[in-house]
Amino acid sequence: MDRTMLIGGEWVTASDEATIPVVSPFDRSSLGTVPRSTREDARRAIDAAREAFDRGPWPRWPPKARSEVFVKTAQILQQRLGEVAELESRNQGKTIKQAADADLPFTIDNLMFYAGAGRTLEARSPGEFTGDGTTIFRREPVGVVGSITPWNYPIMMAVWKVAPALIVGNTVVLKPASYTPLTSLELGRAFQDAGLPTGALNVITGPGAEVGDELCRNAKVDMVSLTGDTATGKKIMEAASASVKRVQLELGGKAPFVVFEDADLPAAVEGAVVGGFVNGGQDCTAATRLIVHQSLRAKFVERLLERVRTIRVGDPLSRSTDLGPLVSPVQQRSVLDFVAKGRAEGATLKVGGTDDHPHFPNGAFVLPTVFDGVAPDMTIAQREIFGPVLDVLEFSTFDEAIEIANGVDYGLAGSVWTRDVRTALKAAHALRFGDVWVNDHLPLGSETPHGGFKQSGFGKDLGTDSLNDYTVVKNIYFDLTGQARKGWHYTVYGDPA
Ligand code: NAD
Repeated sequence: MDRTMLIGGEWVTASDEATIPVVSPFDRSSLGTVPRSTREDARRAIDAAREAFDRGPWPRWPPKARSEVFVKTAQILQQRLGEVAELESRNQGKTIKQAADADLPFTIDNLMFYAGAGRTLEARSPGEFTGDGTTIFRREPVGVVGSITPWNYPIMMAVWKVAPALIVGNTVVLKPASYTPLTSLELGRAFQDAGLPTGALNVITGPGAEVGDELCRNAKVDMVSLTGDTATGKKIMEAASASVKRVQLELGGKAPFVVFEDADLPAAVEGAVVGGFVNGGQDCTAATRLIVHQSLRAKFVERLLERVRTIRVGDPLSRSTDLGPLVSPVQQRSVLDFVAKGRAEGATLKVGGTDDHPHFPNGAFVLPTVFDGVAPDMTIAQREIFGPVLDVLEFSTFDEAIEIANGVDYGLAGSVWTRDVRTALKAAHALRFGDVWVNDHLPLGSETPHGGFKQSGFGKDLGTDSLNDYTVVKNIYFDLTGQARKGWHYTVYGDPA
């Protein structure tokens, strides 16, 4: 199927009719094409969003009316859940149970959350701060927002960006990753079917270096928000600086998973398997560095390997599959290169590390992989692998555990495993990560602010904090004196009265 994209309320091809093939990472079958936009197409989408912001109804509607569109969009996605989840699974390679039972329900819940949260915007209370006038603070939309999303959770990341931006009255140009554009187009369709005014949301497909870059450079865009790689974030900050755009960045991660001496071992092992292999490890919060107290390490690794050997790798559309293929052969190659690097640097490969699936030779698989004996400065302990690869590291003191955990450029998420409340709190305070879980790894809700420290970026997705990112505070002053010459004017010219 050759799909079109959404610009100014119309479903259109690229201006030169060029397309990008979309391919299943499981069996290399064709999933059709999407338009390969040019800079010119990106400008058309930006103009449509600009017009919708400057003159269209959406920013001017009362919150209740915007909220109603969100509720309808959520209902439409709920009705289409099975179909959209299957499309996500086919396109991304993630398992159907994750797409249908986790990603889509969370996406719908986000829309419902923001339908309510967008009606609660507050600014600080007004007052007579000068004594002669009343100041009012208004919280207003930023304007036109460029939302650029990655390929790991296509529809979920799109909603994490688009929902808080739209609900407060911004207009948006969404650019999904080229590997996984299909469900973002479905999101555009659902919003349109729910009655979103023309141009308030535009969804364009095309290469990041061209279309994404235009969103960052174009002066008609007021803000750009990226979820993606740290290297991409750096480019975007640079490109956005020419027009001094507001930037929000949700970037990479290298989550520590610290298992203290008194931890509940079976719980920690279950947590490591789930936290490490979620979405095939293609998750910015994935528990990739298992930092285990030396007294527990041997037992921990033994139990971990037992569990990892039971992970069912295969067809993502089968309900009994736990791990599907990676998103693409390119990602598969990149993960296997990290595996080779780990071995070359002296880590011990305990299981996996290969791509040979006995039944599905065309799939972009990497089998569940565990390295033991990983040193904190090894490449596989420092860089984001973004595949099903777990590293086991060892520590002996609390301070050493924290030093290893914090010893990366990233600061997105991490967890601590202990039965001691003091250890848990001390560790949670000491970890320089935006999400810290105690005795679990991964849980997030629509209400919970999510975003990084350090090179994992800045700003928040989810929760009401993200509404602050997409709004700007205006301060309006009303004179109360009614005098032509105010008491303070002499400080500029003339004498006091
Ligand atoms: P990526 O950075 O390669 O691509 C992300 C998006 O940026 C894509 O739409 C891409 O086309 C676009 N892009 C690429 N170059 C660009 C440029 N020069 N200008 C503008 N746009 C450009 O990331 P990916 O490989 O799609 O996704 C994986 C990354 O996303 C990982 O690093 C992961 O940790 C991160 N991620 C972070 C979070 C979070 O919440 N912090 C969530 C999910 C994924």
